[in-house]
Amino acid sequence: MRKLVAGNWKMNGTSADLAEVTALLATHPAPGCDMLFCPPATLVSRMSCLVRGTTLAVGAQDCHAATAGAHTGDISAAMLADAGASHVILGHSERRTDHGESDAGVRAKTIAAWRAGLIAMVCLGETGAERDAGETLSVVGRQLRDSVPEGATAANLVLAYEPVWAIGTGRTPTLAEIAEVHSFLRRELAARFAGATEIRLLYGGSVKPDNAAAIFALADVDGALVGGASLKAADFGAIVTALTTA
Ligand code: PEP
Repeated sequence: MRKLVAGNWKMNGTSADLAEVTALLATHPAPGCDMLFCPPATLVSRMSCLVRGTTLAVGAQDCHAATAGAHTGDISAAMLADAGASHVILGHSERRTDHGESDAGVRAKTIAAWRAGLIAMVCLGETGAERDAGETLSVVGRQLRDSVPEGATAANLVLAYEPVWAIGTGRTPTLAEIAEVHSFLRRELAARFAGATEIRLLYGGSVKPDNAAAIFALADVDGALVGGASLKAADFGAIVTALTTA
């Protein structure tokens, strides 16, 4: 399977930062893996125009579950597709925490994304307290069961395991802990979906140029979802290089 390195810019970036996209494409014109940037919604259209014909795809960071209507400030999946997005991140822990998003809500958004032809990148992961309590597999198992609807395929779903306590902290699980969760998620996917071996399972949480190669070498790690290190082309490019040489 072709692996994927995805960057989540979060609430960072204005038009001046599109220079990072140009810089990345200059150093990695044919990277040997898929690359994706998910900028803030304000940049989806411009970035999509900029990357047309290149190996870099553009995604969004959230969508509304409804097709259209009276939802001030929200954006539908069809609008994101119209702006040039091919993917949308759903259920990121910051949205689950900041906006109280539930598994059922993420599930509804995933269906909306599929309706619009977008690839849903569904995020799940345990908090530090849940890991300390030995609940990691039961938490991610529940999130997978309740957030991902029937009908998932390698063509419409990417799953990102992102331990909440590892996001933006510089801390990561051990390699054995990442491997344990990814192999569990693969088994759970296989129990529900035909072709589950081809569904990409990303690891996310403090992936940096210096730890990426070891993480990418693990079985069932099909790439990464990168936050902070996706904002600079040099860091993101170094992670892409680590993936293609792992
Ligand atoms: C993220 O927010 O999806 C993420 C992985 O962030 P970071 O790489 O900064 O930990």
